[in-house]
Amino acid sequence: MNLLEVKSIECQYDTRVAVTELSFAASRGSFTCLLGPSGCGKTTVLRAIAGFHPLTAGEIWIDGRLVSKPSVSVAPEKRRVGMVFQESALFPHLTVYDNVGFGIKKLEPEQRKQNIQRLLQRIGLADMAQRYPHELSGGQQQRVALARALAPNPDLILMDEPFSNLDIETRERLGYEVRDIFKEQGTTCVLVTHDQNDAFALCDRVGVMREGRLLQWDTPYRLYHEPCTRFVADFIGEGVFLPGRLLDSRAVETGLGVIRSERSYNGDVGDILDVLIRPDDIIFDQDSDLTATIVRKAFKGPEILYTLRVDDGNQVLSLFPSHADYQLGESVSIRLQADHLVAFPRVDRAP
Ligand code: ATP
Repeated sequence: MNLLEVKSIECQYDTRVAVTELSFAASRGSFTCLLGPSGCGKTTVLRAIAGFHPLTAGEIWIDGRLVSKPSVSVAPEKRRVGMVFQESALFPHLTVYDNVGFGIKKLEPEQRKQNIQRLLQRIGLADMAQRYPHELSGGQQQRVALARALAPNPDLILMDEPFSNLDIETRERLGYEVRDIFKEQGTTCVLVTHDQNDAFALCDRVGVMREGRLLQWDTPYRLYHEPCTRFVADFIGEGVFLPGRLLDSRAVETGLGVIRSERSYNGDVGDILDVLIRPDDIIFDQDSDLTATIVRKAFKGPEILYTLRVDDGNQVLSLFPSHADYQLGESVSIRLQADHLVAFPRVDRAP
C-alpha cells in the first residue's frame, strides 16, 4: 500500500511556477528519492509534502489522509512527518540526549528515556549523550538529527541532501546505516539529492526531475537501462549516443554492430536514431575484428573507464577491470554487447 501519494501537484513562488503536474507514490517502508539538477524543484516538493509550501493544484495524501490541496493544508506538525536537512540544525544549547528527546516531551518520562536511549544506541552515540552539538563531527551531528527525526516515530521521513556536507567515506557508510534503520523500523523515506551515487546505492525508487517536472519515477536499474527521455539518459550514468538505423522495431544497426532488444522502438524502418551506448555495453574481446584506439583513460579503483575511438571516428566508453592496464594510443579489440535498446530521434548536430 502507498504511504505517500503525490497527485499532479503544482507549486508557485508568487506567480512563478516552480513545480508542475508532478505525481508519484511511495509504498510503505520504501526508500525513495528525487534526483535532479540544482533549481529543478526538489526541495519545493519536499516542503510541500511536509506542509511548508501550499499547492496551487493537485493533492498530497499521507497514509490515506488528504493533507494538501489548494484549499486545504494540514499543519506540518499534524502530518506525522520528520525532516532531516543538509545542515543538521540541532539545537546548539541542548545536549545530544535532549536534542533526540525534543519531539517526544509528551511521552511518559520512563518511556521517553527508553526511546532516547534505544535510538542513541542504534545510531552508535550512546556514550555521547551528554555532549553538545559543537562537540560532535559532521557525521555524528547528522546521526543525532536522524535520531531526533525518528524519535516521534513518524510515518514518513523527508531528507534534503542529508549527506552532502560529509566526506565520501562517511556519507556512504551513513547512507547505508540510515537505510538499514529505516528498513528495520518500516519508515518510509523521501530523500532529495543531486548525487546519483546516493540515489542509486540507497533507493528502491528514484524520480528524475527537470524544470519542475518529474520525467521518470523508476527503479535505479530501469532508469539506467531504460531511460524514457533523452535528458534522463544523459543525466543518469555515463554513455554516448551513436547514430543507428532502425532495422525493425526491436533492432538497430550501429557502426559497432546490431543491438537487439525485447523493448520495442516506435519508429519507421530505416529511421536514423541516436542510440545510447553505455560503458558496460562495450567489452574487450581479443577475438573480435572490431578495433578501437584508447584516447583517454580514467582510473576508478577496481575499474578503468576508457574512451575509445572506433575506426569510423565515433567515440565510445568502456569500463574494464583495472588489473589490465592499457596505454593511451594502444589499439584494442572490442565488441558490442548491449541487451537494452535505448534510442531517441536523431538530433541534428550539423554546424
Ligand atoms: P537545489 O538542488 O539547488 O537545492 P532544488 O531542485 O531543490 O535546487 P528548489 O529549491 O525547489 O530547487 O527551487 C525550485 C525553483 O524555485 C528554483 O528556480 C528556485 O530559484 C525557485 N525558488 C526556490 N525558493 C524560492 C523562494 N523562496 N522564492 C522564489 N523562488 C524560489
